[in-house]
Amino acid sequence: MDILAIKDYLHNFRGTVLNEDIPTHLKSLKAIEVSQNNQSAAKEIWCIEQVYKVIRGYLSAFRNLQEKKHFDAWLAFDRTDIELSFLRKHLDFQDNNFHLPFYDKMIFQYQKLFPYQYFMSREMIVKRASCSICGATVSLRRPCGHRIGEIYNGEQCGRIIQDAEFLAIAIVTNPFDKYTVLFPQGMEYNYSMLDTLLTQISGPYDDWNLDFLKERKKEFIGVGRNQLCPCNSGKKYKMCCHGTDNELFDHHRITVQTSTPRNNIPMFSVHTWK
Ligand SMILES: [Zn+2]
Ligand SMILES: [Zn+2]
Repeated sequence: MDILAIKDYLHNFRGTVLNEDIPTHLKSLKAIEVSQNNQSAAKEIWCIEQVYKVIRGYLSAFRNLQEKKHFDAWLAFDRTDIELSFLRKHLDFQDNNFHLPFYDKMIFQYQKLFPYQYFMSREMIVKRASCSICGATVSLRRPCGHRIGEIYNGEQCGRIIQDAEFLAIAIVTNPFDKYTVLFPQGMEYNYSMLDTLLTQISGPYDDWNLDFLKERKKEFIGVGRNQLCPCNSGKKYKMCCHGTDNELFDHHRITVQTSTPRNNIPMFSVHTWK
């Protein structure tokens, strides 16, 4: 397969299992470009390798969801999200042919439906790091000339941590590392939103939308402005919760856009848990 055929394949892919030979093809095509010092061609192949990783990661996350391996699915979505963010620096998402905005949107939406609330956050000081391209030990004072995230010879530059000091581990709700989910003892996460969604769609390429809405709580519906406030404050409704967040609750609305007509209800709503 040449590069055009691979690009075409990835652009049109709508299956569930990717051709596993593509990474090997890309690797040898890249080696040829690198040997001729064609930096921009090597970088383009790196981008296509990333596209492949994104599609493969997304499919594997979806498969895990189907098999109700929720935490594995979470990890795969997180990993894929990271690969996508590497790619974003080098490829215009609006102007390419791989439907990357679709993967971006779906990964974000699936992640939003996970019930995880507690994560670990590591605080550490990196004492020594080396460059993934040239191997030199680098610091702010002694840069090696390679920039993090840039592509050299078709490889992305990163830092390899050689030595670090851990200061603390904190429990947080909005983590930098999404894989650090905590599973507190005696607490079961509820995956019903994901499981319900999976019964409504037929595959990873079914499109659906997630809207974040505020709706009025049941006890506040139809209350007159001069009646007592349903919150039991003893005040009039208009002087109390009227028009405030108190009378609203968060609501996720999922709208499934199936290409094929279905017998079951195409729209459903599930409340968030808190
Ligand atoms: Zn370097
Ligand atoms: Zn009130």
